[in-house]
Amino acid sequence: MEFKNLGRTNVKIPVLGLGTWGVGGLSMKSAAGGDDAVKALIFGLDLGMRFIDTAEMYAGGHTEEVIAKALENRRDSVFLATKVSPEHLSSEDVPKACDASLRRLRTEYVDLYQAHWPNPRIPIAETMKAMEKLVRDGKVRFIGVSNFSVEQTREAQEALSTVDVVSNQVEYSLLDRSIEANLLPYAEKEHITIIAYSPLARGQIAMGSVREDRWRTIDEVAAKVGKTRNQIALNWLITKQSVVAIPKSANPAHLRENLGGQGWKLPHEDYDALSRAFT
Ligand code: NAP
Repeated sequence: MEFKNLGRTNVKIPVLGLGTWGVGGLSMKSAAGGDDAVKALIFGLDLGMRFIDTAEMYAGGHTEEVIAKALENRRDSVFLATKVSPEHLSSEDVPKACDASLRRLRTEYVDLYQAHWPNPRIPIAETMKAMEKLVRDGKVRFIGVSNFSVEQTREAQEALSTVDVVSNQVEYSLLDRSIEANLLPYAEKEHITIIAYSPLARGQIAMGSVREDRWRTIDEVAAKVGKTRNQIALNWLITKQSVVAIPKSANPAHLRENLGGQGWKLPHEDYDALSRAFT
């Protein structure tokens, strides 16, 4: 597995992690026992994708419980990231939400605690100061944000006095390149890791019609380098210095395929051809 530095830290995280939206069910109501989900997570961890991203919101907290099972005897070898929901971003709620996540995850700390979405009714500085206290208390190693604009990320950074915002988790794939206008250049300049969510465009990369030029381009590149579309799409993302990606899969064959999105380099001309085709 390839690794990249997290933000400005010396901590290395895998370039591909395990997304977990839908793992163990979509809502608390539909929450499954999760044995297959636990097995799929362990399979992904054993492949080397030792970075799990989750959120208190997923399946009403059940996803965190499923992850706890997969982490038994492995906790310290995994970089574990979770997120606090926008309705819990006040100084009073952040510590409570964190304690609840730690309880469900059955761990004493999370590696990365992310504000899931900004909440316009709660000042970003208030949230960040509460998160900084969690770092001081040893419950959180690093602070990140998610779905924050450049301005919101800057505001978050300015509110912190002893640590940095190390990451911003945002949608990024060949099919959604909106962060390239502002956020990506800002993150590169500020050494903030971009954690690309929905990197396979929620499964659409595998399904694009060959009647369209862009899909013909990706298929030509795939045939040339001997990889699949999904592997090309992931490699294209992680070619960028500050980007790591968290594809989600509960299917062992897909997990193995996704792992093959790293460990090699797209030739420059193919990277450029893809960038032109998927504008
Ligand atoms: P994604 O990873 O782009 O795509 C997931 C979908 O693609 C699933 O249906 C999966 O089905 C399928 N898939 C995965 N690998 C495949 C392969 N090799 N071949 C064919 N199909 C494949 O989308 P996502 O789940 O939206 O995003 C990934 C993660 O990002 C989430 O799980 C979550 O952790 C995070 N996320 C964060 C936010 C946020 O606001 N911060 C928002 C959305 C997502 P199978 O399980 O059947 O393989």
